Amino acid sequence: MAHAVTRQWPIGQEKDTFLGGENPFESMMARFDEAAHHLNLEPGLRKVLRHPEKQIIVAVPVLRDNGEVEVYTGYRVLYNTARGPAKGGIRFDMQVTLDEVKALAAWMTWKCAVVNLPFGGSKGGVICDPTTMSIGELERLTRRYTSGIIDTLGPDSDVPAPDVNTNERMMAWIMDTYSMHKRHTVTAVVTGKPIAMGGSLGRREATGRGCMLVTREALKQLKMPIAGTRVVVQGFGNVGSISAQLMEEEGMRILAVSDKEGAIYNAKGLDVKKVMAHVKKEKVLRTYTEAEHIPNADLFSIDCDVLVPAALENVITDFNAGSIRARIICEGANGPTSADADQILQDAGILVIPDILANAGGVTVSYFEWVQDRGGYFWDEETVNNRLEKIMVSSYQECAAMASRNNVSMRIAAYMVAIDRVAGVHRLRGMYA
Ligand code: NAD
Repeated sequence: MAHAVTRQWPIGQEKDTFLGGENPFESMMARFDEAAHHLNLEPGLRKVLRHPEKQIIVAVPVLRDNGEVEVYTGYRVLYNTARGPAKGGIRFDMQVTLDEVKALAAWMTWKCAVVNLPFGGSKGGVICDPTTMSIGELERLTRRYTSGIIDTLGPDSDVPAPDVNTNERMMAWIMDTYSMHKRHTVTAVVTGKPIAMGGSLGRREATGRGCMLVTREALKQLKMPIAGTRVVVQGFGNVGSISAQLMEEEGMRILAVSDKEGAIYNAKGLDVKKVMAHVKKEKVLRTYTEAEHIPNADLFSIDCDVLVPAALENVITDFNAGSIRARIICEGANGPTSADADQILQDAGILVIPDILANAGGVTVSYFEWVQDRGGYFWDEETVNNRLEKIMVSSYQECAAMASRNNVSMRIAAYMVAIDRVAGVHRLRGMYA
């Protein structure tokens, strides 16, 4: 069969597989258990929060351009909706598994709770290789998957967003499919849409802006000056490049940035805008001439103040954690640090701003998009950015206070803040029996 779904071609080099290797759901739950232990969470609630509320598996038949029918498997997991509608992205990838989707849905629950958004957490995925599919095939896949999970979708129940290999084009198709079924336009059913159809200003920059804001808070907490702070960034895509640009605007010095092919370095600081313009044109850092080129393997051992992993999961492990010379790590990527590395970094006195907090700027502005769609009134970019700043700064401070009260890392503190919020609402709501 020409398009068998079991083909294992090496796709998605930049794919954000979640925590790789081990069972992702169990990896997530190991951190949950540690935080729950510190919170002294009652056993009943612990059981409730260890189980996804709803797991949906759908067959997604698609007519391929060559006339053959292929049937893909799609998942949508609503992990927890105690605090509000579920919120979470949809990924198209050959490596999608139910366990991964469950883990990512749990993760979204904690991420939304740590920044106190009135959302629960969800995630979805379809096992497919979008790189081998035409635009028409992708549209049919997206629409059929949407119709398969349509009973759970809705502004008040479950609100998707883009994730690995999905983008605003697909969000537009989801919105259209849902709206056709409802017989009227429902923009708030999905976020990450094009601006022209209910997307939010500032969404594209939101994750990088959030990274800059929490890094600034961490520097203040450690009484380190912001001006001249030396920063190294892994990954120069959406999150990495915007983080670098905004940190530079704050007066920090970006010593090095990397992409999947290599890194560029300048001890005096790179001109980030120039590097961005270069990448926009040439796609790669390799051809940039105004900096020293160094191997990716050397990036993490550069003497700096702040390291921003903003590319992939599992890049800081027990293998390289000992060589990191930064004072602060801001996790722009999801899951960049392995559990083994956590301990090494903590012993070395490195402050890790954990992913569920550091990169929550994206989902925060997705929340703003949902609010604007529901209100039918759109904010200017300054309003979006100011409101994002307020949320990121106060969330950082809450996690820092939790860490110092309980003598735990910022990661465990962030989980504690999140789990405490979700558990608190469960207690208030009681159990429907
Ligand atoms: P992106 O595809 O725009 O950029 C990824 C960058 O990483 C590219 O520059 C790529 O060349 C680089 N890269 C890939 N492999 C690398 C390697 N081995 N070494 C160095 N660089 C490498 O992706 P993005 O949207 O910036 O997302 C990056 C990370 O941030 C992912 O983990 C993603 O899940 C997470 N994240 C993104 C958002 C968002 O709003 N975009 C929100 C939350 C979390």
